[in-house]
Amino acid sequence: APVGAEVELESLPLRDDLRGKSPYGAPQLDVAVRLNTNENPYPPPPELVADVTAAVGEAARELHRYPDRDAVALRTDLAAYLSAQTGTSLTAANLWAANGSNEILQQLLQAFGGPGRTALGFVPSYSMHPIISSGTQTDWIPAPRRDDFGIDVDAARRVLTERAPDITFLTSPNNPTGQSIDPDDLAALVDAAPGVVVVDEAYAEFSAFPSATTLLGTHGHKLVVSRTMSKAFAFAGGRLGYLAAAPAVVDALQLVRLPYHLSVLSQAAARAALRHAGATLGSVALLSAERDRVMAELAAAGYDVVPSDANFVLFGRFADAPRAWSSFLDQGVLIRDVGIAERLRVTIGTPEENDTFLQVAGDLATKEL
Ligand code: PMP
Repeated sequence: APVGAEVELESLPLRDDLRGKSPYGAPQLDVAVRLNTNENPYPPPPELVADVTAAVGEAARELHRYPDRDAVALRTDLAAYLSAQTGTSLTAANLWAANGSNEILQQLLQAFGGPGRTALGFVPSYSMHPIISSGTQTDWIPAPRRDDFGIDVDAARRVLTERAPDITFLTSPNNPTGQSIDPDDLAALVDAAPGVVVVDEAYAEFSAFPSATTLLGTHGHKLVVSRTMSKAFAFAGGRLGYLAAAPAVVDALQLVRLPYHLSVLSQAAARAALRHAGATLGSVALLSAERDRVMAELAAAGYDVVPSDANFVLFGRFADAPRAWSSFLDQGVLIRDVGIAERLRVTIGTPEENDTFLQVAGDLATKEL
């Protein structure tokens, strides 16, 4: 046993609000078909791997020095990428980067949330929003979605006015349900929210809708758009998230970020990966087409399918979703039980992986629905 094995978690002087909690995270199981964490199933192309390797090799010569604390070169590259991707003209001053968009969200909560403050989200949505809120002692306010998982804009406006949250999360496309927020609705919600509005666009590259960055020109005093290289960009292992906002928001985050939070290696690798954006994003059209195929085939097999604008699909309705999840796993297909009654979420994989999933789903339809 390791030194200190006799010390029990319960006996530590842990914060009261952390007692009894379990860490967030999907099971990391070694199975043939892993469709549970919304990654891009395609590994980076050889040119990208070579470029990252060379860039990291070059950066390694500087490892005795701290990195650029402000990651200016990387932010410049991200601004160029995001400007091209969204059509909104952005510069390095509008961009901020961190180790995954989870860290971006945490920094936002540290700066704009905290004890005595509140954050509101429309649930079900990304479960890290309440967890990061609680980690920063920001009170979480769950507001309901409609039964079809869309947001009822009139009801949402009322709850935003009544509860006046310091931070409002809008996730578009929404994880785990898949829909984007219509641009008019998004504008209405941003207008109605009294505090900071974080539009979490982790899956935006898969969506046909315009980015919320188009609202930055008029709503820079409250709007933040969060993005990640983990999904469409096939860089989940690289841990690089970023945001677009008014420069003052970036100034605010510099008050809470740890100095040198993005390593020399992370910055170099992300910049190299960004040089191959065209090739990486080539997979997006294919994955979107596969998503449409998976939705159609699930529906044909008798499943109830929530229309998705992202690279995953929420489907059901199972009499017992946890048991159905296990049945998929028994057949070598790892999907996600996101805790929504009667439903499971599947990430879109390669066509072969999707075929395997659909085969199992077809077999199970008769038994589990
Ligand atoms: N936002 C949403 C909606 C997500 O689904 C995820 C990944 N599950 C993230 C943010 C965080 O991803 P990352 O930290 O890898 O950028």
